[in-house]
Amino acid sequence: MAGIRDYQVVVGEQLIEEIYELARQLKGCRVQHINSTLTGGGVAEILKRLVPMMEEAGLEVRWDVIKGDEEFFRVTKTFHNAFHGVPVQITPAMLDTYRRISRENYDLVDPRAGFVILHDQQPLGLAEIRPGHPGRWLWYCHIDPVDVDREVWDFLSPWARRCDAAIYHIQAYARNLGHRQYFMPPAIDPLADKNREVSSTEIAAVMERLGIPADLPLVVQISRFDRLKDPLGVIQAFRLVRQEVLCRLVLAGGGATDDPEGIQVLQEVRQAAAGDPDIFILELPPASDLEINVLQRVAAVVVQKSVREGFGLTVTEAMWKSRPVVASPVGGITVQIIDGETGLAAVTTEEMARAVVRILRDPSLAEKLGQNAREHVKKNFILPIYLKRWLEMLTAEQS
Ligand code: UDP
Repeated sequence: MAGIRDYQVVVGEQLIEEIYELARQLKGCRVQHINSTLTGGGVAEILKRLVPMMEEAGLEVRWDVIKGDEEFFRVTKTFHNAFHGVPVQITPAMLDTYRRISRENYDLVDPRAGFVILHDQQPLGLAEIRPGHPGRWLWYCHIDPVDVDREVWDFLSPWARRCDAAIYHIQAYARNLGHRQYFMPPAIDPLADKNREVSSTEIAAVMERLGIPADLPLVVQISRFDRLKDPLGVIQAFRLVRQEVLCRLVLAGGGATDDPEGIQVLQEVRQAAAGDPDIFILELPPASDLEINVLQRVAAVVVQKSVREGFGLTVTEAMWKSRPVVASPVGGITVQIIDGETGLAAVTTEEMARAVVRILRDPSLAEKLGQNAREHVKKNFILPIYLKRWLEMLTAEQS
């Protein structure tokens, strides 16, 4: 695994020195991250790399995952959907389940942690014990809370208020909780298997293993099978594209242990694609970083047709690989895809199809969007920059 100095080739020496300077002031500081899954989804992806880098910077870091049963994760998935404005039905039994599992996890909190970071809403109930804990508590909201269901917000926000500050990916997500706010979009690791350079031999081997022929351009969406990623809409858009340009579609993704709806959505997707030899539905196991890397690299166009998106790391990953991306202008995607410059924004199925056709027919446009995309990620959404923002925030909270 790469160390902090290894990133100098990507971001230059000065940033690395700034990181070490900040880290000196935080040496020995105990930080505990708590979330709800070790694999699958953006938060796990971020923590996988952030935690070892914080440790290397001299902090004492723990990453814990709350333990819940199937019922709990059904409840938190409903809350997740409710944050994204999906109409939901909340029952008293669901709220009881959330409280009960939160209580069962109280012991998870490190009594000596200087900082306790609660990622998203699943572990928020742990903030019940905040008043008796000496550390500073931060709620990191990785999802778009703008249209959050009132009832769900009324239930969860008292715990968010017990924290000392909140962190959001973008300013548009800020909620009035009466305490400090920080804005920190996440980042990708350019040296990890998911994003590192890959040789043409490796690419060919992976594509052969996945059984995808290389004779036609590929339109690719990598995502958990989640209705908010609109995989069925991607299939519809692809069918419109194929009337104009010969190409194939790859929809690839796995599940996350905190997302019980994935299996059903995957079934719906398989049904919609049944009998179509140009659509490849790939169910990826958790350790598929190289496969994802390769699929993003070989794509003629990467699409992300999300209805809502906390940030959309899959977009960042594709942009880093200089791929032209067509994505819905929602949530965190709005700070990544600047329409016509770093990618193309498309709202409806027809718009997405038109944008994909445009790129497939215009290699110089594809080239320009891809290059701008990589530069945009390099300046804003790359791991060492993110680490520095974290260290700045912890320093500010400490003083
Ligand atoms: N991802 C993965 N395997 C999958 C699907 C997604 O490793 O089968 C990764 C993907 O590469 C990205 C993250 O999980 O790094 C998804 O983050 P994003 O912000 O795009 O969406 P989220 O799943 O958090 O809604």
